[in-house]
Amino acid sequence: MHPREAHSPEFDVVVVGAGVAGLTAAALLQRDGYRTLLLEAHDKAGGCAGYFFHKGYTFDAGATVLMGLDASGLHTQVLARLGATVPESTLIECVPVHLPDRTVNITHDQAVWTHERVARFARNAAEAERLQAFWQLVDRTADAMWAATAKLPALPLRRWRDVVANVRLVSPSFIGVTPYLFSTVGDVLRRHRLEDNAPLRAFLDGLLLITAQETADRAPFLNGAAGLDIYRHGIRRARGGMKAFIKAHVEAFCALGGVLKLRQRVTRLTPQPRGGYVVETERGLTVHAPRVVVNLPLWNIPGLVGTKLAAPLARSLAKAGKGWGAFTLYLGVRADVIPANAPLNHQVLLRYGESFADGNSAFLSLSEPDDRASAPPGRRTLNVSTHTEVDAWWNADAETYAARRAAVAERLLTAVARVFPDIRAGIECLLPGTPVTFARYTGRAQGMVGGLRTTIWNSNLFGIGVRDVGLPNLWIVGDTVFPGQGTPACALSGINAWRDITGCWTLQAPLVKPHPLRAPSSAALTPETPLSGRRAEGKAVV
Ligand SMILES: Cc1cc2nc3c(=O)[nH]c(=O)nc-3n(C[C@H](O)[C@H](O)[C@H](O)COP(=O)(O)OP(=O)(O)OC[C@H]3O[C@@H](n4cnc5c(N)ncnc54)[C@H](O)[C@@H]3O)c2cc1C
Repeated sequence: MHPREAHSPEFDVVVVGAGVAGLTAAALLQRDGYRTLLLEAHDKAGGCAGYFFHKGYTFDAGATVLMGLDASGLHTQVLARLGATVPESTLIECVPVHLPDRTVNITHDQAVWTHERVARFARNAAEAERLQAFWQLVDRTADAMWAATAKLPALPLRRWRDVVANVRLVSPSFIGVTPYLFSTVGDVLRRHRLEDNAPLRAFLDGLLLITAQETADRAPFLNGAAGLDIYRHGIRRARGGMKAFIKAHVEAFCALGGVLKLRQRVTRLTPQPRGGYVVETERGLTVHAPRVVVNLPLWNIPGLVGTKLAAPLARSLAKAGKGWGAFTLYLGVRADVIPANAPLNHQVLLRYGESFADGNSAFLSLSEPDDRASAPPGRRTLNVSTHTEVDAWWNADAETYAARRAAVAERLLTAVARVFPDIRAGIECLLPGTPVTFARYTGRAQGMVGGLRTTIWNSNLFGIGVRDVGLPNLWIVGDTVFPGQGTPACALSGINAWRDITGCWTLQAPLVKPHPLRAPSSAALTPETPLSGRRAEGKAVV
């Protein structure tokens, strides 16, 4: 336990929301001696990277695969600073992408992948050369992006301090990719005269949609290259699924003396004339805090602080636009309908030339055959997800909603059957999730998930920063601020808030002393919300 007064009735920081970004920020701050209260609306931490139990299965709620768990990865660095153990994980060696007329195996092995990505798409020798050049550029750009990310960028540039901090990003490899700062993936495809290769386009669009939330014509090339490279770079599945990953963070936070309160939905943040905020929850908890870190999408912020105070966020909200929703199927299946050596992840496109949403494109994630933390003996979990527009779900009456849900579920099962033909016979439990489900369990406005639809104008130098809400001592973290979606990106936003608050620059920096920032002088909690047993409450969730 950290030696500071963990049982003092005051907090230096309140973090709203225990998603990956909130957990990362909260645990790092607590590690540096900032007494941190983490308020979570749900009965478990994790949010879109969380988990739930059903009929003996433990399902991942949203995210299923992780980057940043390798030896030098971002999550590993965070857990090391917290003194926590990195959960065991399995490297995903191959992700087959099943297109309507061919299967493309994306492999972690560079040599195999270098051959596959040309052989599967080239229609003649000249095109093979252009494909090679395109993919080599993708590799170089992705390598530069990963190297820059490892140096913990803090974009967009808002103050001189940010400029100085980001000078560290500049390297010869990074300078080499800057000419593409204003290019989309589509622009680069045109430059390589590959834009009319329909299977290649469909392959790229499907991959870009799950990594950048945009297809080639709008996805920025820098971000797109990193997205197209994730399997070569290395993704992993935590043993025991996302529960093991989230548990590592929650346990570290609680062991350091952090206070996690579950089932505490924050309803209001009110700035105080003498500085700091009053944080109020649905269940009557009122906390005064000098600093607040909010792990909610931008779309939720006006609802918390009121539209008047959120006015400075208007430009950022316009940049954010409308997010995607997700439709998910959580399947508990008999193991005998899935070959034991089948890759854990697959992507399926049913038809060329149609929207990728609502089941035409599906991402499949299996638990390992021997993963008893996820499924009972002889059973496996299978998550299937697809993009969907949120409005259609919120505007539907009950009958239309049910019919739509059944239709998308059926289409996803058709996609799964492309890979595992006997799947229907082996299903023991089936739960669909719509944007309405995501809104209910994660509190995200309209169930919009996965961050922003990334464009040149809402990412990197033009991204949305952790301070852009424009209120003093209030930071936003999560997948709608820089650098965007995915668990390492969310962790980086949490790190950026921690850096802003502590003044630390690297995760290897020595521990700092909290700044004595306008801490409320009176008791931080109202009398009717005693703190006794609070740490046990935090521990009870894992
Ligand atoms: C179907 C799906 C699959 C995905 N797959 C992957 C994947 O394989 N790999 C990957 O890296 N990423 C994946 N992602 C993206 C990734 O899961 C998210 O980008 C990331 O988890 C978002 O984290 P966050 O911290 O921004 O916010 P959230 O996860 O949204 O966390 C916010 C937290 O705040 C809580 N909360 C909300 N309102 C309140 C309130 N008023 N008061 C208190 N608490 C509140 C919520 O309950 C939640 O716990 C996937 C997303 C989805 C939806």
